[in-house]
Amino acid sequence: MVAASVWSLIIPAIEMRGEMGRLRFLPALVGFALGILFLLAMDCLVPHLHAGQALPEGRKSRLGRTAMLMLAVTIHNFPEGAAIGAILAGALSEESPVTMTAAILLAIGISIQNFPEGAIISLPFRAEGKSLRESFGLGVLSGVVEPVGALITIALAKIVTPVLPYMLSFAAGAMIYVVVEELIPEANEGNDNNRGTLAFALGFALMMTLDVMLG
Ligand SMILES: [Zn+2]
Repeated sequence: MVAASVWSLIIPAIEMRGEMGRLRFLPALVGFALGILFLLAMDCLVPHLHAGQALPEGRKSRLGRTAMLMLAVTIHNFPEGAAIGAILAGALSEESPVTMTAAILLAIGISIQNFPEGAIISLPFRAEGKSLRESFGLGVLSGVVEPVGALITIALAKIVTPVLPYMLSFAAGAMIYVVVEELIPEANEGNDNNRGTLAFALGFALMMTLDVMLG
């Protein structure tokens, strides 16, 4: 997903603004930062529980375990939907270097990794004694936000092609937030796990800026 964010989303976003010369990274940088901040806000505000973690994150709430597990996956899935939407909008727009092939490949890649993600949701429910059908249904439901995210993004991007580089990199920032938060265990240790994620994002943005400006 990190590779997809860089090659399918950020690099096309930078290329779209070739006329800006050395500053062509700016829309990508702004979009990326917004994506990270948006996910950070969701992570801090929405009460949710990551599978395998003891304590919930986000604001205190009286939601049950099941609901909070679902919310965690919803937060996780939204950026993937936004990524598919942004890249499809890019493929449909004549001004962007994004090809339909790239869009379809990204969609397939994300779909494939959604199978185990659906299972991550379904299996604990099954273990908690829910029926097979109910567990499966909840797993599927957790993925529903992706087409929703995709449709919203397409609808928005079609109206405003100039915003496309921002949308592509917004999706990239959101995806990278999720990847770092969930897949790099060291960045997750302790109660204040957002700091590790933010440090990663900062380093990423800095390298991107330097690479484009000096490259
Ligand atoms: Zn979280």
